[in-house]
Amino acid sequence: MFIKYGPLQFSGYHRVLVSGINNGHTIQFSSEGEEAIHPVVTGGPLKYLYRLEQLHFHWLSEHSINGVKFPMELHFVHVRSDLSVVEALGKRDGLAIISVFGNVQAEIDDFEPHVTEIMEYIPHLMNTGDRVSGVILDMTKLFSPNKESYYTYSGSLTSPECNEAVIWIIFDEPVYLTDAQVTI
Ligand SMILES: [Zn+2]
Repeated sequence: MFIKYGPLQFSGYHRVLVSGINNGHTIQFSSEGEEAIHPVVTGGPLKYLYRLEQLHFHWLSEHSINGVKFPMELHFVHVRSDLSVVEALGKRDGLAIISVFGNVQAEIDDFEPHVTEIMEYIPHLMNTGDRVSGVILDMTKLFSPNKESYYTYSGSLTSPECNEAVIWIIFDEPVYLTDAQVTI
């Protein structure tokens, strides 16, 4: 079944104030400051506005395309803007998680989509409890080059509670990182 949605509409992702933490499970960057300044997304399969709470990494992707996994997957976790996090976990459309695959390439030309900016913080977040704050990220550089090309489904969180609360949006074109950035 193929459903054509309208375009996703992103706003506020060019300059996002975040803090990064290694929480022992993953490296996560959380939106800082008032919720009113957090980036928001709507459109596509989303009937509400969703605000960005955090993004985190999976080394070896959780999703696959045609059975093939990628070396990395980034999850941008959004909460429905009219709900608190706790309320959102109880609604089938409470969360929207945008997923971007990372693929590895020996060298990356500047004109190709790449994730170099955020990867520069990773060496400072190698141990549980490590933290960096006051970081400003241009998250538009972390999105796939073709934001019209994604698949979507309603599902659950992949963490232990597995709440059936997530609209997944999975870009099928990866961004790139270098071998050196994966093997740190
Ligand atoms: Zn995740």
